[in-house]
Amino acid sequence: MRRAKIVATLGPALDDRDKLRAAIEAGIDVVRLNFSHGDHETHARRLEMVRELSVRLGRNVGSLADLQGPKIRLGTLPVDGVDVPTGSEVFLMPGREHLADYSSGGVAALPVVYEALAKDITPGALVLIDDGSIRLVVSRLDGEGVWCRVVAGGLAKTKKGVNLPGVAVSAPSLTPKDIEDLAYALEIGADWMALSFVRTPADVIEARTLIQAAGGECPVIAKLERPEAIENLTDIVAATDGVMVARGDLGVEIGPERVPAIQKEIIAEANAEGRPVITATEMLESMINSPRPTRAEASDVANAVFDGTDAVMLSGETAAGRFPVETVRTMARIIEVAEGSPQLVHPAPPPHSEIGVSRVVAQAACQVARDVRATAIVVYSISGSSIQLVSKYRPEMPLLGLTPREPTRRRTALMWGTEAALVPMKGQATDLTTAAERILVDGNWAVRGDRVVIITGPPGGQGGTNRLMVHRVGDPIAS
Ligand code: PEP
Repeated sequence: MRRAKIVATLGPALDDRDKLRAAIEAGIDVVRLNFSHGDHETHARRLEMVRELSVRLGRNVGSLADLQGPKIRLGTLPVDGVDVPTGSEVFLMPGREHLADYSSGGVAALPVVYEALAKDITPGALVLIDDGSIRLVVSRLDGEGVWCRVVAGGLAKTKKGVNLPGVAVSAPSLTPKDIEDLAYALEIGADWMALSFVRTPADVIEARTLIQAAGGECPVIAKLERPEAIENLTDIVAATDGVMVARGDLGVEIGPERVPAIQKEIIAEANAEGRPVITATEMLESMINSPRPTRAEASDVANAVFDGTDAVMLSGETAAGRFPVETVRTMARIIEVAEGSPQLVHPAPPPHSEIGVSRVVAQAACQVARDVRATAIVVYSISGSSIQLVSKYRPEMPLLGLTPREPTRRRTALMWGTEAALVPMKGQATDLTTAAERILVDGNWAVRGDRVVIITGPPGGQGGTNRLMVHRVGDPIAS
């Protein structure tokens, strides 16, 4: 049984129903709707197809709406791109989508769809285009735009990303587009909301306020891809519901050589705080064009598992690649083999500084389950938070979340090692144990005579997980 989860970005490569079905069967746990691309109707159509197929296949598949954030991009360029030779000068025109002329007086001119570009940067600043494949240094500013020297040239193409490492970008963390997309994502029932370019805990709080104002309850994933986010890591992890190691932009902003150590730091921090963490970007990048991964990619996926990630993510591989199904299958296999390896050492349990009763019960459930050789741990939870806590203690045996709420059930799809099922709202402990027994036996998780550990809160209430029971399947159920 695979424990680390797979997040797969949807896109044209999985628009075919049979392919999507095969990819879900191959192991997709959570689909990512990338609001940097595609219109609202396309996202809604894709999510509807995922939901319909997951019911048909009996798979619990969650969804993650990923907001674009204040990503700076080039505007629209001629179809053949604009050549920006090394050693030449280039003129950046802020707040422009198109230009009438992409060269003036022999100098290449590029539109940049960010109004405040000239206000945010100063001479000497680095400007990276297309994940750093084109590198510019700002030489001077004039009333109309920004003059740069080209340190490493290339062909600039439409909508390519622009990064300003070390520059405090003044754009708000949630742009007007993000606010519209967030409302739409809630309308279509996204299970998690990812925020791009988070800088401080205030960014997370702002998104949460908007979600609550819209009557939603979708938890927030902070994408860590800015140097400021790494400086504020502890506070952001404390404020958010989950994090993503967004290695694409992070690598451009701080340099790829720093990403491996920071990945470990983020995963350790998230695990200590009991937050789910997704490791993302270029995990099986070569499989966009090849049916097989490189050895380095296989190592990268396995190492994220060894680092203790809850989930690994596929981006272009499943959104636009030629082998989306094979990629998901490959990722699942790499995870399974890594998890079966003696190299797998689960991270130390979260520290006990701010320990609550739920956390003590979650930890105790794992310890008791080990000691009584239980075949499964069952957690009843309305919000899913107790299930998440137990998942963080990385129990060796299967973890079954039981919840009366469908959104909670879908949310557990991102949680390490967790399977989940719907049960009626808990009345008496006997009803819950009866339901748990039936689900465990029907799902081949346990047979008569097996011990299982069940944790719950008080009858009828939400929160406050405070009860732990060891039950032998088939024994009379005590009230
Ligand atoms: C990243 O930069 O790694 C990332 C996941 O964000 P996006 O794919 O939105 O650029």
